[in-house]
Amino acid sequence: MSENHHNLLIVGGGAAGVSVANNMRRLDKEMTIAIIEPSEKHYYQPGFTIIGGGAYTLKKTTRNEADLIPSSINWIKEFADSFQPDNNTVTLRSGDIISYDYLVVCPGLQLDWNKIEGLEETIGKNGVCSNYSPDTVEYTWECIQKMEKGTALFTQPPMPIKCAGAPQKIMYLATDRFIKKGIRDNIDVQFCNAGPGMFGVPFFAKALKKVIEKYDIPCNFNNNLVAIDGENKTATFEVTDSDGNKQRVERQFDMIHVTPPQSAPDFIKNSPLAAESGWVDVHQNTLQHNKYANVFGLGDATTTPNAKTAAAVRKQVPVVVDNILNLKNNTALVEGYDGYGSCPLTTSLSSVILAEFSYGGKVTPSFPFLDPRNNSYIWWLGKIIGFPWMYWQLMLKGSRFDIPHLEKYAAKLVKQDSES
Ligand SMILES: Cc1cc2nc3c(=O)[nH]c(=O)nc-3n(C[C@H](O)[C@H](O)[C@H](O)COP(=O)(O)OP(=O)(O)OC[C@H]3O[C@@H](n4cnc5c(N)ncnc54)[C@H](O)[C@@H]3O)c2cc1C
Repeated sequence: MSENHHNLLIVGGGAAGVSVANNMRRLDKEMTIAIIEPSEKHYYQPGFTIIGGGAYTLKKTTRNEADLIPSSINWIKEFADSFQPDNNTVTLRSGDIISYDYLVVCPGLQLDWNKIEGLEETIGKNGVCSNYSPDTVEYTWECIQKMEKGTALFTQPPMPIKCAGAPQKIMYLATDRFIKKGIRDNIDVQFCNAGPGMFGVPFFAKALKKVIEKYDIPCNFNNNLVAIDGENKTATFEVTDSDGNKQRVERQFDMIHVTPPQSAPDFIKNSPLAAESGWVDVHQNTLQHNKYANVFGLGDATTTPNAKTAAAVRKQVPVVVDNILNLKNNTALVEGYDGYGSCPLTTSLSSVILAEFSYGGKVTPSFPFLDPRNNSYIWWLGKIIGFPWMYWQLMLKGSRFDIPHLEKYAAKLVKQDSES
């Protein structure tokens, strides 16, 4: 077999790629496996929220990619550039061609900083920060610490984005800091959201409305950030009214936390693997490509309408691995992924609402007897200790640890909620 051929080829060595490779290696010792991944560093991105809030460090969220990929898996330290699924090949940016029997596509998503005029020039200075990149996340904490008075804006772009709760999570952490410092009354905190509501799942949206009301933060819905002038501390929003009319509104800020618009990576958009939306076109339950049977996709890069989270990846990995083995053994594929995703919503520096849900906005908690809408200290401990440990020690190492998430755990609460 040539060095440029692998039984299993994985594009992207992030949360999904490393977990799939290591899980497959546990189940199949013979298969040759390679990961195409250009980055030397691997980040635990769910930790970025608490770095921005001053409760965690970038060091704790960072590992060398080399330490996550065992020697039995070939790491191709390169960018994948294009796909030729009819020939079962991927071309790298260097021009090298790699062939495969099975392909898994998981290069995450693209942060479109350039879609907000002036943002690239000013991000990381002038009070313009973002938790969405390891290059800018520490500056968020710097901005929060520097604030003594003035206006702090927190923006949310149109969906889909990864971790849809993250734009408001950092706002609650910042506001809690201002309260603890005794300066809350000096700071006008505002949420500027391109969407029409607090969260995609009504059950949790109501709970979050209570949180934001408790903090007395005004919500500017249908306010989409389109331009930033960092030096003059001015943000321009396109505001859509109830009749669909649009107008531009300028707001002054002293600090602004920006969540950038997000889309499929360009090399995916321009590939035969993309759906019209640009994302990797896979079946939402089997995660098999809708056109190319030996291609699978998972993580942030796909068309599946779940919350783009590492929690979703955890449930998707076994489905992809099992279905590759099913295909190899000529057995039927399992429709094993039900759209589970989870968002630990940091509502203060000591509490988290653990929102767990599946396709169609079904509330599907992993734990009975607990009301998932509660602002809970247990899940704060999960956020800062338990979930990172699960990520590094279990998920990335290819362990399967399925905690069943069941609609019945919340059925009574959901019924009461919809009747209230
Ligand atoms: C601020 C923030 C807060 C978050 N909070 C949470 C949370 O609380 N809970 C939660 O579950 N999730 C959270 N997430 C989301 C979570 O981190 C992602 O959903 C998860 O990392 C997706 O995994 P992935 O493997 O699809 O993508 P990633 O982990 O982003 O990995 C993609 C990999 O592909 C590589 N790549 C890119 N282009 C190429 C190419 N051309 N060729 C080869 N490789 C390429 C990249 O270098 C990267 O290593 C958060 C994310 C952010 C940014």
